[in-house]
Amino acid sequence: MRVLVGATLIDGTGRAPVADAAVLIDGERIAAAGARRAVTWPSDAEVVDVTGLTILPGLIDTHDHLASHGYSLAGRWGLEEPATTRHLRTAAAIRGTLEMGYTTLRDAGGLDDGFRQAIEQGLIAGPRLSLSLQIVSPTGGIGDRIAPSGHTCCVVADPTLPPNIANGPEQTRDVVRAMVRAGADVIKCATTGGASSRKGHGPRDPAFSPDEMRALVGESHGLGRRVMCHALGGRGLRMAIEAGVDSIEHGCYLNEEPELLRLMAERGIVFTPTLTVYEYHRKSASPHVRARARDLEGPHVASIQQALALGVPISAGTDAGGHGHPANAAELQHLVAAGLTPMQAIQAGTAWAASAIGWEREVGTLEPGKLADLIAVHGDPLQDVTLLQQRDRIALVIKGGATAIDRRAS
Ligand SMILES: [Zn+2]
Repeated sequence: MRVLVGATLIDGTGRAPVADAAVLIDGERIAAAGARRAVTWPSDAEVVDVTGLTILPGLIDTHDHLASHGYSLAGRWGLEEPATTRHLRTAAAIRGTLEMGYTTLRDAGGLDDGFRQAIEQGLIAGPRLSLSLQIVSPTGGIGDRIAPSGHTCCVVADPTLPPNIANGPEQTRDVVRAMVRAGADVIKCATTGGASSRKGHGPRDPAFSPDEMRALVGESHGLGRRVMCHALGGRGLRMAIEAGVDSIEHGCYLNEEPELLRLMAERGIVFTPTLTVYEYHRKSASPHVRARARDLEGPHVASIQQALALGVPISAGTDAGGHGHPANAAELQHLVAAGLTPMQAIQAGTAWAASAIGWEREVGTLEPGKLADLIAVHGDPLQDVTLLQQRDRIALVIKGGATAIDRRAS
């Protein structure tokens, strides 16, 4: 057993911080967490003095693309470098994300199950992964990669990332089954365009029909998988919510339809705004991407504020990958700027994120029985949430009771 003593504890539940805390770790799990005087440990436990630090649950990003390294089409097709180089680049992004305190991450498309196997076998260090493998969409949707010339690509199909274009209810079910067979924990789909999608398929342009979406959701749920749906606004957004998806990713124009937000609150459909990515798109070299990102900024923030007021569950997601792999906790800073309290932003990146993935029994808070995924940082993130983006402030990263990073000496 190991006990961390002396830190201030933010346990992820939203409860007020506890000064001079103790967190007792037994193997991979938490045995106790709270005020030091309320926690007892055996005399042979290893006592680690972390006085002056703040302990919080390992951070969770519910929308990332770890295997993406830019928006260029040639890059996305895998033409710009050998596959081995690309895979090692992905491994570096995975390790780097863990090193910044992210112990759980949901990949929203692009990462195959081999990376999870590599982490589990100890070949590379990385967070716990929930995988979607590929974005399911119909012909012309955002999963349908096609060049402005009309050409599709040339690369050999990769069985670890099954074909993702589905037309009609039958094919949609088949694609869902193939994703699950290849290791998907969650089905990612898209019912609208986005900021960076091709001209003509923008944030309010729909993809899929209601019967296709009902088939997709029904098949996914039948196989015990949640559905995370990229949807920004308009008819496609409504269709996704009415079809019963489990989360709306981006959701920029939810503010235009308060009754949809009420429906989300009622059904517990999670809203994953991704503020970090649109900051990047507002500076895009493509005029149509820049214009879309600037248009959606105000509505996106309004959507978050209305969602908060109505009690829609919110989870933090960066949509990292296309815009590189900067510090994922930038999203928490953006959430605070959008109106969450610092405590709510931390919950959006811990407990609320765990619920969004369906892993709330295992991770997201520091309570007895949960996996011992935690970080210890210099300073008070409730005073300054940006410190979670600073590598040298993240003194300790512990995943499943094992120390992944220890920067305390430096
Ligand atoms: Zn995404």
